[in-house]
Amino acid sequence: MGIFDDTKLAFADKTDAQLRKAYWMFKAIERPALTNIGVSLLNFTIKNNFPFVDKIVKQTLFEQFCGGETREESMAVVQQMFRRGVGSIFDYSIEGKEEEETFDAVCNEIKNIVKFSVGNPAIPFIVFKPTAFGRIGIYEEVGKGKELTASQKEEWSRVEKRFDEVCRLCFEHDKKVMVDAEESWMQDAADQLCEEMMEKYNREKPIVWNTLQMYRTGRLDYMNAHLERANKNGYFIGYKIVRGAYMEKERERAAKMNYPDPIQPSKEATDDNYNAAIDFVITNIDRVSGFFGTHNEKSSELIIDRMRSNQFEHNNPHIYFGQLYGMSDNITYYLADKHYNVAKYLPYGPVKDVVPYLTRRAQENTSVAGQTGRELTLIARELKRRKNI
Ligand SMILES: Cc1cc2nc3c(=O)[nH]c(=O)nc-3n(C[C@H](O)[C@H](O)[C@H](O)COP(=O)(O)OP(=O)(O)OC[C@H]3O[C@@H](n4cnc5c(N)ncnc54)[C@H](O)[C@@H]3O)c2cc1C
Repeated sequence: MGIFDDTKLAFADKTDAQLRKAYWMFKAIERPALTNIGVSLLNFTIKNNFPFVDKIVKQTLFEQFCGGETREESMAVVQQMFRRGVGSIFDYSIEGKEEEETFDAVCNEIKNIVKFSVGNPAIPFIVFKPTAFGRIGIYEEVGKGKELTASQKEEWSRVEKRFDEVCRLCFEHDKKVMVDAEESWMQDAADQLCEEMMEKYNREKPIVWNTLQMYRTGRLDYMNAHLERANKNGYFIGYKIVRGAYMEKERERAAKMNYPDPIQPSKEATDDNYNAAIDFVITNIDRVSGFFGTHNEKSSELIIDRMRSNQFEHNNPHIYFGQLYGMSDNITYYLADKHYNVAKYLPYGPVKDVVPYLTRRAQENTSVAGQTGRELTLIARELKRRKNI
């Protein structure tokens, strides 16, 4: 039995009924055709306020992947996970809205999460998406390094202000904050802003953490160059290390606009690059902290191995593991049981607002090779084990 095969440990908090429901749901989203029809139908019915749809969604996809409709409602899940040593990272994102009022409202909600979680070790990190604070187009313009127009300058200074308000609040309350990574064409500006925040707030320890997607080419070069700057300017680096979630979109755009594909040529190359990032963090642990956001068992084992061979304590404050709520509990609960630092992204919000997140989870589970199969095998094995007790 592998270290991540203990389903009794993984699903100790789930009732038989919850497991059976999860089984049928993963079974349904295993089929791409069914998922695509379901997603279109769901978007249509939610948009047009069909009666009962939100109730059905709430009892299925929502229950599997979200904490609740509000922060308060989500606390039951937060506390349940924390009793087993698993932290929660509130994930609040309204997707696809590009108005200044929405950016301000999301920024306020993120600040409310900071205040809500002050002093609560069950919520070790705050997180936000750069495009929740500004249009993707403005990041793109800034990233090109050209002179901005007066109105672009104003727009960008509002983005900078939102970043700074959240990071400063986290600094004042000693909370770590992670900035998600998104499309490559907006990332240079986000990286630059994250570096500025690190330089300002990470003088004593890593408060601000940026995200690096290892499916991209050139990220290791970036890390090495960034480390030099951090050493020179005397601040600590925090990185969330992921493989990356926008592969198809990246490749399509590169082909359409005729520029080199920014993604590694194969899954294997992405895996190698991810492993190299693990080594980068371990080797530079005095300056760099890593939060490894992955559902990949081999990567998780490799981190454990590297920690062991370098004689790191399991709960070394510079190493975190992370998964999404509703997925890969076999990894999460193994790590928590062995006292590694581990936390799950916990999305919350009104059902209608989290539907885009839920449909992406369903589609990603269909397209990330093996993910749904893995979940199904684990749930089936646990149901069988319980029957045979
Ligand atoms: C806590 C957490 C936070 C996250 N935050 C972010 C974030 O801020 N930004 C973001 O973009 N994603 C984020 N992700 C998603 C992440 O990037 C991955 O999409 C997802 O976790 C699947 O990768 P994996 O490491 O779990 O495992 P695996 O299933 O081993 O890897 C799948 C991934 O490998 C890569 N891949 C697959 N096929 C190929 C191929 N042919 N060529 C090259 N590469 C390939 C893709 O990145 C794909 O998503 C986050 C995930 C977690 C768990």
